[in-house]
Amino acid sequence: MSYFPGHPPSFFLKQVKNLTSLIPVLYSADHLLHQPEFEFDRGTQIPYQEVARRIESTREALLKLPNTLEVNPQLNLTSDLIAQVHSPDLITHLINSSEAARLQSLSSNAKENLYLYPWIFPLNQRMRTGLIKSPDPTGCFSFDTYSPIGSGTWQAVLASANLAYYAAQLVASEKYKLAYALCRPPGHHAAKDMFGGYCYLNNAAIAARQLNQTMGRGVILDIDYHHGNGTQDIFWDDPDVFFISLHADPVDEYPFFSGYADERGGESAMGTNLNLPLHKGCDDQSYLQALDLALGAIRQFNPHWLVLSAGYDTCAADPSTFFGLNDDVYSVVGNRIGELQLPVVIIHEGGYAVEHNGILAARLLQGIIDSLNE
Ligand SMILES: [Zn+2]
Repeated sequence: MSYFPGHPPSFFLKQVKNLTSLIPVLYSADHLLHQPEFEFDRGTQIPYQEVARRIESTREALLKLPNTLEVNPQLNLTSDLIAQVHSPDLITHLINSSEAARLQSLSSNAKENLYLYPWIFPLNQRMRTGLIKSPDPTGCFSFDTYSPIGSGTWQAVLASANLAYYAAQLVASEKYKLAYALCRPPGHHAAKDMFGGYCYLNNAAIAARQLNQTMGRGVILDIDYHHGNGTQDIFWDDPDVFFISLHADPVDEYPFFSGYADERGGESAMGTNLNLPLHKGCDDQSYLQALDLALGAIRQFNPHWLVLSAGYDTCAADPSTFFGLNDDVYSVVGNRIGELQLPVVIIHEGGYAVEHNGILAARLLQGIIDSLNE
C-alpha cells in the first residue's frame, strides 16, 4: 500500500478501525542523490560499500509484509530541529561542502558527480578554524575517510534525517505503535560535531530527541555490528535517554576508539550508557544472551519509548562481519524487543550484504509485530 506524500489524509485514517495494526515504512527517493563510487579503506581505494540498493532491497521486502504502508513524508525537518542534537557549525559545514562540490563539478566539467573526500583532519579548534578558511575544508568535522560529500549529499542526508523525525512524530502521536524509517545515509556514527563512517547526521538521535520531548524518558538500542559512537556522544550527559549498544569489540573493529564496556555516561548521566562488546565469532546463543542483558537494563530504566538502531551487518552473510549470526536470530531479536511492549521507531543503519538486508529487516520487523500483537 502507499499514499501520496505528507500527513495521512483524514478520510484514510477514518476508514481504518485499528490504526496500530498498520506499520508505516518511511521512504524518500532522495537517498539516490548520494551515490559515491569509491571509498578509501585503510588507504586503499575500493568500491563504495554503502550503496543505494541496500535501501531499495529492504523497501521491497518490508512492503511485502502484511499491514505495512509506505509513507513518503514532506520535508519538515529544519536546521533548528537538527541543532537539538548537532552543532550548528557541523550543519553549516555539510551544507557548504555540498555546495562546494556542486561548484567544483561545474567548473571542472566533470561528467560524473564530483565527491569531496576528507583527507586532512584538524584535531583542535585552532586548526579547525584555519581549515574552514582553506579552499578544501572537507576534513573539518570529519573523523575518517568514509564519508565523501557530493552536490546531492546534503539533500539526501536531510531527507534521511527527515524520515527519522517523521517516524518519531507518527509514534509520538500514539496512532502507531511502530514505524520503520528507511534512512540512507545511515546515522549512528555521526556525533554532535563530527561525521564519519558513512554517516553525516544522526537519524536515531533526531528521532530520540523528538520522542524525549513529547513522551519523556526513553531508550536507544543499537544492534548494528559497529558501535554507535555518534549516538553515545550525543546522549553522553543526558540521563533521560539511555543508550545501549551491542556490537563487535572495538579492539577488533571499527570505530576502534569507542564502544568499550567501561564507557558508562557522563557525570550527570552515569549508568545511562551501556556498551556490550561482543567477541569475534559471536554466535546466535552468545548474541541473545547479550540482548537479554540489554533488555533487562531497559526494563529497569522504565522507559516510555524505544528507538532501535537496526543494522544488519551482524549476519554471517555480511562481508564486513566477524560474527556468525543466522538469519533466524533476527526473528527472535524482534520477538524479544516487541515483548517490551513499548512504542518503537526503527532506524535503518548498516548492513552490506545488499540483497540480504531486506530478508533480515523483514524478519526483525515481523518479530516485533508478533510480540506487540500478543
Ligand atoms: Zn555497521
